[in-house]
Amino acid sequence: MSSTPRFFVTTDALQGDLVTLPREDAHHARSVLRLRAGEAIVVHDGTGMAHTAALVEVTATQVTARLVASEPVQTEPRTHVVVAQALPKNADKLEQVLQHGTEAGAAGFAVFPAARSVARLDGDKIDKRMDRWRGIVKGAAEQSRRGVLPDVSWHPASRELLARAADFDAILVFHEGATGSLRDTLALLPPGAARLMVLVGPEGGFADAEVAGFEATGAILVSLGPRVLRTETAALVGLAQILFARE
Ligand code: SAH
Repeated sequence: MSSTPRFFVTTDALQGDLVTLPREDAHHARSVLRLRAGEAIVVHDGTGMAHTAALVEVTATQVTARLVASEPVQTEPRTHVVVAQALPKNADKLEQVLQHGTEAGAAGFAVFPAARSVARLDGDKIDKRMDRWRGIVKGAAEQSRRGVLPDVSWHPASRELLARAADFDAILVFHEGATGSLRDTLALLPPGAARLMVLVGPEGGFADAEVAGFEATGAILVSLGPRVLRTETAALVGLAQILFARE
């Protein structure tokens, strides 16, 4: 089973006991994985269910499979952590956060330009990057057998992130100068606090005015320890600490 190819689909790909893979997956299945009719795949429908299916038809543009068995995926953490990552200087670093954050168990990613983000992203570039980012998350979710596909969103300003505050039990700002540790802060949250957003700054860190704005909306500054981590490392260390403490 371990090497059975996995595909994330949306629920509309499932019709009765048949599943149709979208075009990009059809290409991957046929030309890269060289799958043929009769072989097994596992389809994750994004609602936490995994379906084992036997391939019925494999053409260059379409792959159809018949569902054989369905079971819930047991890989989702109970704590829902959205990583709000400031746009880093190199696109590659953000991709590392998306890839490894998905493996580690992030519920989603919110990308935003922080005051000190050097890179800028606007116009058509945003849509293109979002497609690429979602593709990276999908690949990582398939590889790591996630039950739910983490969501990726773009926020043109950090205040738009904070406008989502009502969706979360706590917003934690990773800050190298914070006095409170992430561990102690988590211990103080109510046990039912299962929806967290963590903010990670860019290479130059968060600007003081930005931090004041976060605190004014009730966000809590937390330290991940005495060492200063790179922006692409901070999200992962934070995720690992949260899931270790709570799962
Ligand atoms: N330029 C800053 C460091 C920025 S590190 C300096 O040299 O002081 C980039 C981001 O990673 C920070 O904005 C923060 O969100 C996160 N980060 C790095 N180390 C951290 C730590 N020890 N605790 C909490 N957050 C940290």
